[in-house]
Amino acid sequence: MSTSSQPLSPSNFRDLFDSVEAFLFDCDGVIWKGDELIQGVSQTLQMLRSKGKKLVFVTNNSWKSRSQYAQKFQSLGISVSQDEIFSSSFAAAMYLKAKDFPSQNKVYVIGGEGILEELRLADITAFGGPEDANKTIDLKQNCFVEHDKSVGAVVVGIDPNINYYKLQYGTLCIRENPGCLFIATNRDAVGHMTALQEWPGAGCMVAAICGSTQKEPVVVGKPSTFMMEFLLKKFNVSCSKMCMVGDRLDTDILFGQNAGCKTLLVLSGVTTQSALQDPSNNIQPDYYTNTISDMLDLSRA
Ligand code: PLP
Ligand code: CA
Repeated sequence: MSTSSQPLSPSNFRDLFDSVEAFLFDCDGVIWKGDELIQGVSQTLQMLRSKGKKLVFVTNNSWKSRSQYAQKFQSLGISVSQDEIFSSSFAAAMYLKAKDFPSQNKVYVIGGEGILEELRLADITAFGGPEDANKTIDLKQNCFVEHDKSVGAVVVGIDPNINYYKLQYGTLCIRENPGCLFIATNRDAVGHMTALQEWPGAGCMVAAICGSTQKEPVVVGKPSTFMMEFLLKKFNVSCSKMCMVGDRLDTDILFGQNAGCKTLLVLSGVTTQSALQDPSNNIQPDYYTNTISDMLDLSRA
């Protein structure tokens, strides 16, 4: 069992603030909830920027691309550049680039437009996703799905329009195309597709393909350290000078800990203080606090 977390206080906040050059923020549950901005976020981010801290936003939600997330920030009144955003849709594209995915091969996507856009930007030919949303299968007919033998990877992310055709197509590619990669953007059990409710997350779609292929995917989103390697190269900061701020223990806090960052859990999202302090929980962040706007108050203390 790891040592227990400390509540953020004026003295430990000062130590944290002075030792950290970059703050990595998870998005849902930290910056926003669904489409609603969490109170005080804008002023807190402004304060951190004015003190010269680098800001990075890391989201496991693969539904959007980085440019779509930049627009979302903009619509919430926060100015964030696309270069400061790391989404699991982007991570999937960067993973394939890092693996020198052959240019003659294609990617089949079970997921949203965000993944397709990031793959296109990386010059990778991809199809599926929204264009297969209305494909139906009539099992009474002598139905047969023909799949493209040049598919070299299946990327699975959140897909509210998942259907039996997509499952069959992805399964055929992974089972029958030699060396076909199975990539999961993330395995979150649930997510805030809307502010009012949690909905099944990408973990649900990924599990369906695990079930039909009996294979395990490569996960590129949090808590995998894959995105961290990109961040480190891009921002030229060492892990010990970064603090990962998130609301989820098994993705955000583990992501930060796996890389050797400082970690701060906020209670504005999915984790309650009692879940944090439950004896069965063995993921303990360095610090915890209610919301990131506490950092604003503490910076003035
Ligand atoms: N996946 C889905 C489908 C979501 O809706 C969410 C949050 O809304 C997430 C993942 C987690 O996103 P984040 O990493 O920003 O908390
Ligand atoms: Ca989150």
